[in-house]
Amino acid sequence: EAYIGAIEAANGALNAYVAVSADKARAMAKQSDERIARGEAGRLEGIPLGIKDLFATEGIHTQACSHILVGFEPRYESTVTANLWADGAVMLGKLNMDEFAMGSSNENSYYGPAVNPWRAEGSQENLVPGGSSGGSAAAVAAGLCVAATATDTGGSIRQPAAFTGTVGIKPTYGRCSRWGIAAFASSLDQAGPITRDVRDAALMLTSMASVDDKDTTCVDKPVPDYAAALGQSVKGLKIGIPKEYRVDAMPEEIETLWHQGIAWLKDAGAEIVDIELPNTRYALPAYYIVAPAEASSNLARYDGVRYGLRVPGKDILEMYENTRAEGFGDEVKRRIMIGTYVLSAGYYDAYYLRAQKVRTLIKRDFETAFNAGVDAILTPATPSSAFPIGDSAMKSDPVKMYLNDIFTVTVNMAGLPGISVPAGLDHQGLPLGLQLIGRPFDEETLFRTAHVIE
Ligand code: GLN
Repeated sequence: EAYIGAIEAANGALNAYVAVSADKARAMAKQSDERIARGEAGRLEGIPLGIKDLFATEGIHTQACSHILVGFEPRYESTVTANLWADGAVMLGKLNMDEFAMGSSNENSYYGPAVNPWRAEGSQENLVPGGSSGGSAAAVAAGLCVAATATDTGGSIRQPAAFTGTVGIKPTYGRCSRWGIAAFASSLDQAGPITRDVRDAALMLTSMASVDDKDTTCVDKPVPDYAAALGQSVKGLKIGIPKEYRVDAMPEEIETLWHQGIAWLKDAGAEIVDIELPNTRYALPAYYIVAPAEASSNLARYDGVRYGLRVPGKDILEMYENTRAEGFGDEVKRRIMIGTYVLSAGYYDAYYLRAQKVRTLIKRDFETAFNAGVDAILTPATPSSAFPIGDSAMKSDPVKMYLNDIFTVTVNMAGLPGISVPAGLDHQGLPLGLQLIGRPFDEETLFRTAHVIE
């Protein structure tokens, strides 16, 4: 009731939830009380969660914040949310996001932008909460849920976490099942939590992760109890610092924050080593070929026949065209056009194939560092703090918006786990995050190291 009340009071201003399922929350909480009374409490018993609108939730609003899925209420539950309910968690509702998870500011939502609960000191200006999981980050930061699910294809968990002073982890590709999560770029998409602290993130991921026959890329590895890793010392861990993440025009305070993080880990007994990830500079351009290519294929299913919106036409072809023209927003259309172009017969070798080769090189860079004994890599999470809603520079130039992902996309391209942890405030009093990147399926080292930073 406290959380439902908090949502009623604050959601008008924050637009973090696009659907509130208060009746369902009350029914689930009641069942929780009964299980507790029977002494059968689960790991997350009675914990109220917000769910990103990308996850299928049975009988509940699931539209990926797109007009094309208007009215869609799935007949099935995503594996990740089913895992959470099986552990006793309670669903408060569905959270705002960029349409089909394409964006870095939540401004590409059919439901309008979510608002960051943080403001610059002395300013009334509304800031973006980051994206695409902006609703998840805003809701957690404002106390409108205990924790939230999110997804990360190129940074959509870590960047909004950094912008809102919350913790976000993208686990290793294959750790969480993608079944029942609307696909954006299938080889990059992963689910993960956004939470208030590292311990909550560890508890949430232990529940969310599983082995699942319904997703063939889900890896058959037992899920550790991640919270057990917390409190272990980082003494003797080797932390790599890649000079390639020192990009042009990065504000000095981000550099200072990075040095602060290095000092904290050094003080805690970690060994700091310089490493090289020479192909980092190609990651962003390669990502913006691979991700749209996969998106153009995945989004072909929204044709006015199977789900949601249908705009009639004189024949079926015109119906497809009308539905997609009206149902998709500008950024989604831009991705479909780029993706179709780079996959077309004449350009496949020049763009898509080349981007895939770059992807292999990026992966090898990380392998070289880890093979040399590096346990985790420390970088800034974002090149700036949260920016104003409607920022004209980013509005007029989509590439400026894409630059938000410069530190996060490498991790998806290589399939590695990455965590963003709040590490300080900038000169305006806005939160900044540091990112830790780990070996495949070594989320434990990330939790343990992030716990020292937070
Ligand atoms: N901002 C990136 C994009 O627009 C990443 C999005 C994501 O991780 N879902 O593609």
